[in-house]
Amino acid sequence: EQRRPAVLPPELSDGSVTSVRVLYADLHGVARGKDVPIGEFERAVEHGLAFCSAIMGTDLRHTPVVGGEEGYPDLVAYPDLSTMTLVPWEPGVACCLADLRPVGDHAPPADPRGAVRRAVAAFEELGLSPVVGPELEFFLCERDPAGGVRRYVDNLSMVYTVGPQADPRGIVREIAEMLSGMGLGAFAANHEFMNSQYEINLHHADALAAADRAFRLKCAVKDVAAMRGLVATFMGKPFNDQGGSGFHIHFSLERGGENAFAGGEEGGVTGLLRHFVAGVLEHASGLMAFLNPTINAYRRLVPDSLAPTHANWGWDNRTAFVRIPPERGGATRVEVRVGDGSANPYLATAATLFAGLHGVRERLPLGPPVGGDAYALAGEKAGPPLPATLEEALDALEADEVLRGAMGEQIVGTFLALKRYEAERHRTWVSDWEISEYLHHL
Ligand code: GLU
Ligand code: MG
Ligand code: MG
Repeated sequence: EQRRPAVLPPELSDGSVTSVRVLYADLHGVARGKDVPIGEFERAVEHGLAFCSAIMGTDLRHTPVVGGEEGYPDLVAYPDLSTMTLVPWEPGVACCLADLRPVGDHAPPADPRGAVRRAVAAFEELGLSPVVGPELEFFLCERDPAGGVRRYVDNLSMVYTVGPQADPRGIVREIAEMLSGMGLGAFAANHEFMNSQYEINLHHADALAAADRAFRLKCAVKDVAAMRGLVATFMGKPFNDQGGSGFHIHFSLERGGENAFAGGEEGGVTGLLRHFVAGVLEHASGLMAFLNPTINAYRRLVPDSLAPTHANWGWDNRTAFVRIPPERGGATRVEVRVGDGSANPYLATAATLFAGLHGVRERLPLGPPVGGDAYALAGEKAGPPLPATLEEALDALEADEVLRGAMGEQIVGTFLALKRYEAERHRTWVSDWEISEYLHHL
């Protein structure tokens, strides 16, 4: 008989689980891990699972960019049993997330999940608990015979269309059901504004659980799409003829179980909410390195996209960087709209929390809101323009002492090196646009 580890939660110990997938996010937010046969899992819990630490300094093309100076020692992933769930699309598989630790005296690894833990701890010192609600948009594509991709549904671009016209194979509905069944709080799925673009909404949760859920949603969508022969993408702006995919993040702060953003002051929101938003806006440019971490992300941030172009805020205003949704009382919250789905949910959540924390600690004043169409506002009224490129956002992060200090040199230094390398490769790459614009005419 197969040996079953005592550490497995009882609902997973009935013999139906044969493997546990231990997962964590790399700096890009890409899922990494190992599959552990069930009889070996107890040992993995006790001793962790070793990985080559080059993983955290490796770009999206598999090139190690950072970490060679230490000879790429091991890092160890320790399963967090509280995150254990079944994987509904792979019967017999359970999955849990892991925290990363170094071996011996080596420097601690750049652990994105750890950054969220630290942000939460910093708020707890003030008696506050962050509550976070992630919203992720994505496109589904089919592989085309020429080796590229084409959109899964391309004859209809109507937001909130439901049923077979919007999703002929019912894939998005199926994923939402699975995510809900896994206890990840998926509560609705819809077709978005663009052809073949979808969104799955997740209930709000404490910050770590919310970041875990956003990470797992991305994994689930990509995995189930792959099993159905499709490609799902969270990249910010995959198509020139369609708008992009946002990663909106809702934030509130609780004190003693009550929403500390809800209050009778102006607009039915507290000074605490205003300071939080002021901090987010003060650090907007540096934050974008984490919220919009690709070359491609900046193509989405244009007028009339429902994504922001300036660091500003507004009452229920979808043209602003920070929207304050109309609900009050327990649902009082702020929505940060700039990020796209290419963001690492852990880094995006942690960095935004640290920016808001700075506003709270320093009691930073919040400027006036933008009213109406923020894209049509000129000059100061629109607020400071956002970085127009990844390079500008990286410069802003490098110059932002508060964010760097809070996120930690291990994460920021590695992230900047990876992303500078990405930007430099892009700077010298000849694109399709250049060929069509110049080759024949010049
Ligand atoms: N797709 C838009 C974006 O890029 C957001 C649309 C919406 O508000 O749902 O952020
Ligand atoms: Mg949406
Ligand atoms: Mg939203």
